[in-house]
Amino acid sequence: MWTFSQIWIDFVALIFPDKCMVCGEYTDSGVHNICMKCRYKIPLTGYYRVENNPVKEYFETLIPTVQCSSMFYYKSDEMWRMAIHRFKYHAAWIVAYRLGRWYGLELKGSGLYDDVDVIIPVPLYWLKTMTRGYNQCHYLAHGMAREMGVKVDKYCLYRRRNNPSQTTQSRTERWENVDGIFAVRFPERLRNKHILLVDDVLTTGATLNACAQAILRAAPTCRISIATLAVAGRLSNHL
Ligand SMILES: [Zn+2]
Repeated sequence: MWTFSQIWIDFVALIFPDKCMVCGEYTDSGVHNICMKCRYKIPLTGYYRVENNPVKEYFETLIPTVQCSSMFYYKSDEMWRMAIHRFKYHAAWIVAYRLGRWYGLELKGSGLYDDVDVIIPVPLYWLKTMTRGYNQCHYLAHGMAREMGVKVDKYCLYRRRNNPSQTTQSRTERWENVDGIFAVRFPERLRNKHILLVDDVLTTGATLNACAQAILRAAPTCRISIATLAVAGRLSNHL
């Protein structure tokens, strides 16, 4: 499904040089601007191919979900960890978009996400989006939506206040930090929909849980799946 946002993103993507966006080497044989060496090195989880996986099992204890997955392990490879860091903090949103396209292809190939109706990226507080200039999850979601043939909704779910950054917080603080901070506008748009909630890195799941709780409160008849690009370490050690 083509939208103006996707056409614009694809146009900008065309003018970027043929450099691998992970290692920075020039490449003419890569896919989505990732060279074959980096594609070979990516620490994929394979979770998106199976219904029962550690991410699904973890969220099972928190909220009702249809499918859950993460594409690769965040801390296993320094080069790949830095790729996420670049799109999160250094304005390289094109990296998020291209990785989103790769992930979207994997989700489509698995057949488990075929009935997703809409992708909702985890929102930043509006002021943070303005000062940073972008929300990396929007680009991730647009990349995935492009390959999966579904829409992105960036407006229904919003963040009510600007909670402190979670990167230096303990597990307990992270849960308290996001408690009740998300809300839904136009809940009728989400009624009976299968929603894919998208975030960049899964650490404790507190943010995604808070998003899902807000959506289910506003639109109890919708179904929720979760997809994060990366998962922080092996699940058994980190969640
Ligand atoms: Zn590379």
